[in-house]
Amino acid sequence: MTTECSIRLFPQEKDNSEVWRKKISAELGIATNEISDIRILRQSLDARSSKPFYQTLFKIYTKPDSAPTPTIQATTTIHPHPQKVIIIGAGPAGLFAALELVKNGYTPIILEQGKKVEQRKKDIVALQRYGILNENSNYCFGEGGAGTFSDGKLYTRSNKRGSIEKILQTLVYFGASPTILYDAHPHIGSDKLPAIITAIRSFLINAGAEFYFETKVVDFVVRGGQCTSVITAEGREFFCDNVILATGHSSNDIYKWFAARGYALEQKPFALGVRVEHPQHIISRLQYGHACNAEYSLPPAEYRFAEQVADRGVFSFCMCPGGVLVPSMTEQGTLVLNGMSASARSSQWANAGMVVTVSPSDYGSSDVLAGLLFREKLERKFFTAANINANFITKSDTASNTDIAANTGCFGSPAQRITDFISGRRSAGLPRSSYPLGIYEHEFNTLLPTFILQSLQQAFKQIDKKRKGFITEDAIVTGLESRTSSPVRILRNRDTFSHTEIVNLYPCGEGAGYAGGITSSAIDGINAVKSLIKKLC
Ligand SMILES: Cc1cc2nc3c(=O)[nH]c(=O)nc-3n(C[C@H](O)[C@H](O)[C@H](O)COP(=O)(O)OP(=O)(O)OC[C@H]3O[C@@H](n4cnc5c(N)ncnc54)[C@H](O)[C@@H]3O)c2cc1C
Repeated sequence: MTTECSIRLFPQEKDNSEVWRKKISAELGIATNEISDIRILRQSLDARSSKPFYQTLFKIYTKPDSAPTPTIQATTTIHPHPQKVIIIGAGPAGLFAALELVKNGYTPIILEQGKKVEQRKKDIVALQRYGILNENSNYCFGEGGAGTFSDGKLYTRSNKRGSIEKILQTLVYFGASPTILYDAHPHIGSDKLPAIITAIRSFLINAGAEFYFETKVVDFVVRGGQCTSVITAEGREFFCDNVILATGHSSNDIYKWFAARGYALEQKPFALGVRVEHPQHIISRLQYGHACNAEYSLPPAEYRFAEQVADRGVFSFCMCPGGVLVPSMTEQGTLVLNGMSASARSSQWANAGMVVTVSPSDYGSSDVLAGLLFREKLERKFFTAANINANFITKSDTASNTDIAANTGCFGSPAQRITDFISGRRSAGLPRSSYPLGIYEHEFNTLLPTFILQSLQQAFKQIDKKRKGFITEDAIVTGLESRTSSPVRILRNRDTFSHTEIVNLYPCGEGAGYAGGITSSAIDGINAVKSLIKKLC
């Protein structure tokens, strides 16, 4: 027999299965030895009361029944199929599309401009330490896509589009902690994600898929509304019956290819702003109140804010508790910041994007690529400002003086205390920061468009009213945070998922403009393949 019950666990009881057993037996009125297995279905922290607790929903198996062996979501019974499917991009959308294909007997060819995750790590180190940017292998590009070196947050609002549970189970199958299956805010962490990506690659190769790394697609051969082959930067041609296009939101060349040939794209709203960094203990105090002290050993607190300023949305994006700021641009001469955390979220900082919605009317051009241009101009402005001010670089905590000297400040970040950001003053000195390439004082009113600046200033005041202490001398704004989602959508047929003009091409994931974040991009990749298979059958 199975039954469910919801129980409060105090922090010190959270990982103690003996305590669970006792509490469950008391709640259900059964002896502990009648319980054969316990599974957690859902767990969320409630820190509002005087004594914080984890509300935990259990599934209980009583004798003679027991919990089934976890089902493996990705099957190994793969049968070769004559269709040649090419996947461009090995991010979440591309990899989950590949898994769906091999499950159904297809052996896709995956073309990825970046390197294997093991080699990609070296490029990340070169960028972090010395400011050396490889345009094809960085925080956004390379095996695993943009989310590989991230906080690995897995929550999404797109639960109507597909099974989030299936994505989580697949990640667990490839090595993620089973806690992601029940945690209300699951995350994996940048120290664990690369091994999961490697395991997915091995599985796919064993199932007959082929990977080509450092293989950038630069051209598509289209005949009679069908893509017959794709051409790489080295001039190699890959013939295909169908193409899954999963190139992410930073692949400007792909958008330009479609625009230059007159294929349908449309402008879409996106969001842009700054990255805010606080000492983590301040955020934990704001969110947990009295409970933030060591006695309760709560995890570093997160936050999620959504404010309305006039008719604009301002919201926090990709918050990284116990995380660090990272340089996540993909092109020389630009500056973009994002955040990542290790699984333990143990750094002393908390950072998040604070971004303002930007709609096509803000850049006042009907050119379909106007949003990309708007984004790129600002990224260049931040970079230029960084280089003018390179002498002012403040040594940040994680980088040594030699490292900063070696990178000559190219990707140092403008920064301002949040208090000065609001009052429009240049900061006299900055607190320490996790940003490895250095921060320096700069007034953001000379960098950001007025509507973004003023919306952020107002939103920060509104947040501070709800969470007194959010505005503090110890917090900084840095930037630019501009890669929240794509400013362009590659049009596809709503039912078939295929491109409106190139019928055997399936644009999917964040780059196509139909998803945002790791989980929803993975779901979109699966959905694209399901539609493709439906057509083939
Ligand atoms: C630092 C950072 C932290 C993040 N943290 C989180 C988080 O915690 N949680 C979350 O949900 N989301 C996070 N995101 C966002 C998330 O990573 C993306 O939403 C997600 O990866 C999008 O998946 P995708 O497969 O659509 O595209 P991508 O992950 O961008 O993958 C696209 C892939 O295509 C490749 N490619 C592009 N063009 C070509 C070409 N012409 N030829 C061949 N290959 C090409 C790229 O190299 C890339 O590997 C983070 C992003 C960054 C940069």
